[in-house]
Amino acid sequence: MNATDDSVDFSITNSYIKDWIVNNYLSQIKYIFKADFNISEVNIILNETKIDNIESISPNKNLYNIGIELNSTYTFENFVIGESNKLAYSVAKSFVEGDKMCNPLFLYGSVGLGKTHLLQSVAWEMKSKFPNKDIVYISANKFMTLYVDACRNQTTNDFKEQFKHINVLLIDDVQFLAGKEATQKEFFYTFNTLLDDGKQIILACDKNPDNLENIDKSLISKMKTGIVIDIKESDDELKYEIAKTKAKLLGLDCNNLVLKYIAESFGITNRDIEGTIRKLLMEQKFFKKEVDLKKVSDILNEKKKLVNCEYIQCKVAEYFKITTSEILSKKRDSQFILPRHIAFYLARKITKKSYPELGKHFEKNHATIINGCEKIELEIKNNNFDTINIISNIEKLIFI
Ligand code: ADP
Ligand code: MG
Repeated sequence: MNATDDSVDFSITNSYIKDWIVNNYLSQIKYIFKADFNISEVNIILNETKIDNIESISPNKNLYNIGIELNSTYTFENFVIGESNKLAYSVAKSFVEGDKMCNPLFLYGSVGLGKTHLLQSVAWEMKSKFPNKDIVYISANKFMTLYVDACRNQTTNDFKEQFKHINVLLIDDVQFLAGKEATQKEFFYTFNTLLDDGKQIILACDKNPDNLENIDKSLISKMKTGIVIDIKESDDELKYEIAKTKAKLLGLDCNNLVLKYIAESFGITNRDIEGTIRKLLMEQKFFKKEVDLKKVSDILNEKKKLVNCEYIQCKVAEYFKITTSEILSKKRDSQFILPRHIAFYLARKITKKSYPELGKHFEKNHATIINGCEKIELEIKNNNFDTINIISNIEKLIFI
């Protein structure tokens, strides 16, 4: 129950009981409250969520972010609209309004094009517009680790139960479901249950669903039943506007030439724009240095020099949403083996270090490194589209 001086709200967790109270008792309840407390506004609210046991890392009331802190600046207001993303933006807006045509919404595009930003914009906006809806944001990888833990602890019923009561599910990085058959099955179940109950779902993925390999065909076709929208590469103009927005948000004082230089610097991704602006801000704040083109160019080149084994480990971990210690560990779980092998392969390719040297950086013996590298080389040779795509996305993260 929630009461103020002139209104009282009753939360009921079951829609059947709520209707029964409204139909049979609401007028009597109102009468009593009016007579005894001079309160005439009585609301009976349906609050059927039972997802308190979901592991949410920060309490955003009706918004549950599992395993990842949401970025409060990833909002629609801070999302710059350009040719390449305007469709995705407007469909995301319609999704918020509950447009059935946009449900489920499958959003795809390469690394750094703003999928996560859009997903979180939807989350924030729905949180404030629909306080009675429970919204869950989770990455496919986290879904998998939670499910694997549930299997291990024999708590799969609890796992199923907690997802059943969600109103809006935002699932990021769907590509991580590839090759995880048991998790796909469970995800299929969750997905169907929610859709059948008229709940809303958005999926974000770095690939066109038609190019997703090692994911069950019927799951893919189910994910495509609503609308499938892509975000295309950002042009220089959009990057410039993003740089301007980020500089303003972070409070960087610089002229437009600097922002233009960043936006047009060779191969820069939207993700690096923010990183570069943050570094400039540090220089400005702590070293009182003026932000000029020379400084920007130093920062952009610095990054290129920074690419060592540890940096590669960080970027591979970032891509797979795991930690660098999991890459360095001896854990044999399948979700760590591929990232580890890709990290070996990229470290060899980029740094050109010898296998024993790489072994020191990865805390492994040289034979393990050779074995991992060979596995990836074989997949590339066999045209494994999945692996090739992952590697090219990680290279984009590594090099500006
Ligand atoms: P993705 O999930 O597609 O890999 P992100 O959503 O993580 O990409 O975006 C990477 C960075 O670029 C973030 O800092 C995000 O805020 C920024 N970004 C991307 N597109 C836009 C946009 N249209 N407007 C503002 N910022 C954007
Ligand atoms: Mg993302």
